[in-house]
Amino acid sequence: MPDNTTGIADVVVLGAGIVGVSAAIAARQRGHSVALVDRREPGSETSYGNAGVLSSGSIFPLNVPALWDALPKYLTNRHPALRWDLAWSILNAAWVARFLSNATPARVKPRATALRSLIVASLKLHREWIVQADAGERIRETGWLKAWRSDASAAARAQQAALAEYGVKSELLDRQAISALEPNILPVYKVGLLHTETASVDSPGNVVKAYARMFAGRGGEIRRSEISSLVPEADGWRVMLADGELCARHVVVALGPWSADLLRPLGYRVPLAPERGYHQEFKPNPARKLLRPIHDAESGFLMSPMENGIRVTSGVELTFRDAPSSYAQLDASVKAARGVVEFGDAVAEPWRGARPTLPDSLPMIGPAPRHAGLWFAFGNQHIGFTTGPGTGAAIAAMIDRATPPFDPAPFAPSRYL
Ligand SMILES: Cc1cc2nc3c(=O)[nH]c(=O)nc-3n(C[C@H](O)[C@H](O)[C@H](O)COP(=O)(O)OP(=O)(O)OC[C@H]3O[C@@H](n4cnc5c(N)ncnc54)[C@H](O)[C@@H]3O)c2cc1C
Repeated sequence: MPDNTTGIADVVVLGAGIVGVSAAIAARQRGHSVALVDRREPGSETSYGNAGVLSSGSIFPLNVPALWDALPKYLTNRHPALRWDLAWSILNAAWVARFLSNATPARVKPRATALRSLIVASLKLHREWIVQADAGERIRETGWLKAWRSDASAAARAQQAALAEYGVKSELLDRQAISALEPNILPVYKVGLLHTETASVDSPGNVVKAYARMFAGRGGEIRRSEISSLVPEADGWRVMLADGELCARHVVVALGPWSADLLRPLGYRVPLAPERGYHQEFKPNPARKLLRPIHDAESGFLMSPMENGIRVTSGVELTFRDAPSSYAQLDASVKAARGVVEFGDAVAEPWRGARPTLPDSLPMIGPAPRHAGLWFAFGNQHIGFTTGPGTGAAIAAMIDRATPPFDPAPFAPSRYL
């Protein structure tokens, strides 16, 4: 960059979460000059607070046909897996209707196939980059356990078969096998499904920071500033920042749950909803260690061993992105988690973030429908930490008119815009 106020790059990536950092690495790897902009340090928002699961098998989003069976319990608004705000739901009735309209048998296969291809490409890159970024010690190849307290063997077997159709490997476990795998948890689970090819990390925020350092080490520019607007120019874009501006031929919007805000003035009404979620970390008992992330199927929360303690993450809260926090759902999850694994006091305040979700639960990965040189890379819902690298690599390939690592057609922004 020539100076601190005005800079010129081939590609400017907006947002330094896992998606933006990945796009920046991939574009740099292709030889472009790249500037990555965020108002915070890389990996400080959604990509910091997630459960750190690098999921091989999260190919069935929330809005699949099984959602209809679960709706009566969700409508009570007391279930820990899903809470919803009435005012938000009324104001966003169109999003809710579109989300539900995807929960049909015909819409399962195309989306699962698309998500699987994005996941496969992403996991390959994560496993390469984490080593190249000197963060290899953070990844654990221990799988991810989904566990049921009830005798849900038929449901677990059905899930295993459905996953196998897409090449996702898993092992069905009974109570004894769960105890052998996780000897330190209480024997509350009757049935488990171990996703054997899923990995996890002990600090997603620090993994993103390590990737960002790798990007900088390869000649990439990281700029810390508030992005205020995007101005189209004859041969590219002017990105207006709080402390200056950046010019580029290509701009990649990877602002996670904030992506729609910047695009509205350009005439794009992106149907992006914030599926909010919380986490809190607790002091582990060193004698009763949790060995891998466990997803409590019936209560919809996850607990994961992290660098700073056991992280309990909550289910979904559908409300306004910036509405004040409400901790009832997290508190219920923590209480349920304490019935599974022993842990001490909280080591930090609760954290809140939002999973950015489009009505079909597929991210937008591709060109803006009405502006050359503008690229959309957001909406990675519950699996954005997993799918960031593939998303970024596909965008960088499309900028170069090269073949992306998977078919990007199902992710085209034009499907909604
Ligand atoms: C509770 C919870 C648990 C989750 N667990 C998992 C999991 O285990 N595995 C998984 O794969 N995924 C998980 N996810 C989903 C995953 O965290 C997200 O999909 C992913 O982090 C989104 O990444 P992103 O880069 O799109 O967004 P972010 O990480 O939010 O990055 C967007 C960036 O844009 C910046 N920004 C926004 N507006 C501006 C502006 N105007 N100016 C400057 N900068 C701006 C922000 O500062 C931020 O750094 C979870 C999510 C939640 C909430």
